[in-house]
Amino acid sequence: MPDPAQDAPEVGPPKQSAAGIPAVLNSVRHVNDQAGVLRGLPAMLAVNQKKGFDCPGCAWPEPGKRHTAEFCENGAKAVAEEATRRTVGPDFFARHPVSDLFERSGYWLGQQGRLTEPMYLAEGATHYEPVSWDRALDMIAEELRGLDTPDGAVFYTSGRTSNEAAFAYQLFARQLGTNNMPDCSNMCHESSGSALVETLGVGKGSVSLEDMYEADLIIVAGQNPGTNHPRMLSALEKAKRRGTRIVTVNPLPEAGMKAFRNPQYARGLLGRGTELTDLFAQIRVGGDLALFSAVNRLLLEADQRGEKVLDHGFVNSFTHGFEEFSEALLAEPEDEFWARTERDTGLTRSLIEELTAMVVASERIVVCWAMGLTQHKHSVPTIREVVNFLLLRGNVGRPGAGVCPVRGHSNVQGDRTMGIFERPADSFLDALGAEFGIEPPREHGHDVVNSIRAMARGEVGVFIAMGGNFVAASPDTEVTEDAMRQVGLTVHVSTKLNRSHVVTGTRALILPALARSDRDQHDGEQRWVTVEDSMGLVHASHGVLPPLSEGMRSEVDIVRGLGRRVFGNDPVDWDRMADYDRVRDHVSRVVPGFEDFNTRARKREGFALPHAPVTTGSSRPRPVWPTSR
Ligand code: SF4
Repeated sequence: MPDPAQDAPEVGPPKQSAAGIPAVLNSVRHVNDQAGVLRGLPAMLAVNQKKGFDCPGCAWPEPGKRHTAEFCENGAKAVAEEATRRTVGPDFFARHPVSDLFERSGYWLGQQGRLTEPMYLAEGATHYEPVSWDRALDMIAEELRGLDTPDGAVFYTSGRTSNEAAFAYQLFARQLGTNNMPDCSNMCHESSGSALVETLGVGKGSVSLEDMYEADLIIVAGQNPGTNHPRMLSALEKAKRRGTRIVTVNPLPEAGMKAFRNPQYARGLLGRGTELTDLFAQIRVGGDLALFSAVNRLLLEADQRGEKVLDHGFVNSFTHGFEEFSEALLAEPEDEFWARTERDTGLTRSLIEELTAMVVASERIVVCWAMGLTQHKHSVPTIREVVNFLLLRGNVGRPGAGVCPVRGHSNVQGDRTMGIFERPADSFLDALGAEFGIEPPREHGHDVVNSIRAMARGEVGVFIAMGGNFVAASPDTEVTEDAMRQVGLTVHVSTKLNRSHVVTGTRALILPALARSDRDQHDGEQRWVTVEDSMGLVHASHGVLPPLSEGMRSEVDIVRGLGRRVFGNDPVDWDRMADYDRVRDHVSRVVPGFEDFNTRARKREGFALPHAPVTTGSSRPRPVWPTSR
């Protein structure tokens, strides 16, 4: 294992604000160190712009009106590592046996630069060797065709994969005959998806940036925007300046939620910045379920006292289960309830009452959350309770109100929308089968954890990862690494080196992919892809940088090359998917909400996907509540 002291963090006094001049200087330094001016400047001027490319750093949406520099320090680092001049090619692998790379930290591996050529690690070999694309894809095709069952293959997806590549990838796996499609969602917002599908019928956020600005109250729970979604601080600052109040629920007092020095403005660069948090609830880890239950109980009790704090019109028209819910929540004797609540939350009753008073004073409420809510055994009940909290006062499906699970990976939501899911809906498989004349498998596949178990049992002959760093991202590194070593052939489609390239199956392939910032040329045509952000907005992404090597290929072309080799071009015409418009046409006939995809994706603003119904006055199209009952 790498020596942890290699990249030991520097420890200093806690910061009292985020961003400001230090963020600008760090961004410039990272971009200059990695990419230099000639590649760095055009990349930073194009990232998150309407005719530019989408930042690979996270899934936070772009505002309608863009700044010249529409990125944060994290975004600058993520783009710098893609736009880097550094390369990792055959010479590098000749100098570094896998045993040496195994001892290196993940950070060091990632800093070595962009992968330029397909590389192959033969059985028992000490070094990766260069291999041609044709040989590499033939090798994978042979291995897949040689499997006893299609379920002997696992197709992992990281959230950076574009919509077009994700759609082609899931089609390939389903034409092969498996739903073994684990993805990084399994490890981040899966509990959000499960709870939201059950309660609202759609496993995604229901708010737009405009809703954030119009909210009276925003609760940020189990999330650290300053580190994970820094431009969210700009949205919170804008809302704050419009009079929105902000509650932070977090075990740690994070600098970004204390004060934000927005580098887009002089006040942010020179001043103390904007204080964001009005009420800080320093909750005990895992205490969010108890907190939202307590607020809901206080609301129910106030309503029973005749204080009219619930939206009964909304509850009666749009919800069911209210009677059972309130009965269950009010059943526990008060003193026992509060003793347990204070113990589980680590908060005082008076603070929870203060929060509830802020809720009652607010017409429109948005709740934002991330891993602090989703990474617990009781995460699904917690997120259900958050939805209960919002439904009690009609805070879903109208301006300034709703649910906002904030996604990490830049297109993780889009990948799921495109069908990257081990438990696909029958309606999706029906549409896919009808579109391509294939019989998609109906049996549910492996998610991340079950894939690891199947690998450890020796049941997986081929593991393919479209991006990502499976062994480092998965819950139990050692168990996952041991499981990976049981696989016959491991294949990673990647832009940079990472730990998953040095913990391999019996044989391994690394296939260098174009990054989102790279120009994607085909037959003299510049191709572009689409992504879906955390708020359900789909928009185009156009690469701007000349690729560092002709040895790199687009994710779609890699899948196409495999599809033609394993299945030929009938009934799925893999060759013709070199034209991404053709891929989008297929999507428009298979995925709900993508009608006329090619036309709408060419609009500078992109388009919003439908979500929960709206009672009155919203600019976004809304279907009926698609819940299961
Ligand atoms: S907030 Fe996220 S998407 Fe936006 S620039 Fe920063 S890392 Fe990139």
